[in-house]
Amino acid sequence: PSAVLTIDGPSGSGKGTISRLVAEKLGWHLLDSGALYRAVGYAASMEGIDLSDAEAVTRCAESTKIRFRDENGETRVIVNGHDASDDIRTETCGAAASAIAAIPNVRTALLEKQRSFRKAPGLVADGRDMGTVIFPDAGLKVFLTASADERARRRYKQLKDKGLSVTLHALLREIQARDTRDAERAVAPLKPANDAVLIDSTGLGIELVVAKVLALLPA
Ligand code: C5P
Repeated sequence: PSAVLTIDGPSGSGKGTISRLVAEKLGWHLLDSGALYRAVGYAASMEGIDLSDAEAVTRCAESTKIRFRDENGETRVIVNGHDASDDIRTETCGAAASAIAAIPNVRTALLEKQRSFRKAPGLVADGRDMGTVIFPDAGLKVFLTASADERARRRYKQLKDKGLSVTLHALLREIQARDTRDAERAVAPLKPANDAVLIDSTGLGIELVVAKVLALLPA
């Protein structure tokens, strides 16, 4: 099987940006697994499904068509034929993603889709359970963290840059609630794989973290 580098961690740890840059440098494929959970949360909300109705949400996860499309150097997320790239980035959608991600059958419904991204010459997989559940045999596993304050500040800047109105205080609370739920759920909880390398990116620039990850790759 092709090489896999997994990058897991909590929201705002920088794993999205780092994964994209590392994949670009290596010329590898990229899997943004969080976008799949966000897409399902989004589709379920649009269909008026009660997010605590496990069976209805599972049917939605099984039937929702999710595609990634590259457009002007950006990855767009197409949900049931509609470009939902901007809609799925809100913290409301992040919370919906986190709620539906705790349903075991939803995770099962997305399992094969995630593994199908593993192709030559290699894959950088970004998420919460890439190293623990989806690609347990990955050649390198990174667990990226940063202090809660710094993660909230990064997410705040990201959302602001997208023109979304948020307050730092509310965001900090929402992110903490989401991380707690992700870490405490029964299936695929957010935690480093036993063989993961921990990188704390608090106070580190993006390029330095990218260099640290690349330096860990076997030659
Ligand atoms: O990474 P991102 O913030 O886009 O993920 C949104 C939510 O999707 C997370 O809070 C988590 O609940 C869920 N998720 C997951 N497993 C993954 C990726 C994301 O449970 N591999």
